[in-house]
Amino acid sequence: MTSFHFIVLFICASLFGGVMGAYFGTVDHRVRHDEPLITTGCYCPSCRHKLPVHHQIPILSWIFLKGRCRFCHEPIPVRYPLIEGGFLLFYGVSFLLLWRRPLVLAAGWYLFFTALLLLRCQGHYRSAFKGWCIFAGYHLLFTALLGIILAALSE
Ligand SMILES: [Zn+2]
Repeated sequence: MTSFHFIVLFICASLFGGVMGAYFGTVDHRVRHDEPLITTGCYCPSCRHKLPVHHQIPILSWIFLKGRCRFCHEPIPVRYPLIEGGFLLFYGVSFLLLWRRPLVLAAGWYLFFTALLLLRCQGHYRSAFKGWCIFAGYHLLFTALLGIILAALSE
């Protein structure tokens, strides 16, 4: 594996973390309110206005929108970019530490989001389980792809 390949994979793992963080920010709220976890579009929890894609970019959208909903001007809690940044860092750092052992890396990510969902669901286990299935699906796809690429590059 060349250093270019390594950097690309590191960036992909970090960005995957950022996107999962953004989704976790949404799921975290919806699980505790038993709201649907898959909707056609993301919406503002205050005014329910559908958010365009460029308002949903992890961390950057919060900065670009100056921490307020563009439609109702309600503040967007700072926990959202912090969760996204935390996920991005965690996925990036864990990739750096464990990329030679992709199964351990995948297991670590599964443990991470399972623990977070359980800690945050406040007894809404049914919704949390639905959220877990969605996270598991995304992670299964991403880690399978990552494993195939790592195997191909190690030859
Ligand atoms: Zn709003």
